Amino acid sequence: MGILEDVLLNARTAVDTVGKKAGKVIDMSKLTLSAADIKSELSKKYEMLGRITFEAQTTDKDYSKSTADIVAKIINLKAELESVNEAIANGKSRSKCSECGSYNDKGAIFCNKCGTRIVVKDVNADEEIAEEDAVDLVEDNLDDDDMGI
Ligand SMILES: [Zn+2]
Repeated sequence: MGILEDVLLNARTAVDTVGKKAGKVIDMSKLTLSAADIKSELSKKYEMLGRITFEAQTTDKDYSKSTADIVAKIINLKAELESVNEAIANGKSRSKCSECGSYNDKGAIFCNKCGTRIVVKDVNADEEIAEEDAVDLVEDNLDDDDMGI
């Protein structure tokens, strides 16, 4: 019984961790690359899951533990992919639809998926905070220069 519940609990913890990490990632090329990596990893896991399911159906062995493991990994990978995609979309300054959650080009008035009017609540809040930090850093540096003169 408990196995699947444990697996789901672990997966949720991983989702939180991934979500927190994604907010800080800026390097777009790296993100695009890792999205591709995650996708290929996902297909491998799905293939593995299929193979195990096949084995379980055709033999008497108990594969429930392995199945639960792979399912947990797939859940983690999917969460990771979602965070990465979101980070990519944020980096491209796109507007997120408040209704269906899909991303639209910046300046779009209606969601290209569900047609909801886009409320510009901006998905770049994290970036703006980062910019403020950058300004603080610059000001700190200027202070140092003043001291030197
Ligand atoms: Zn929408």
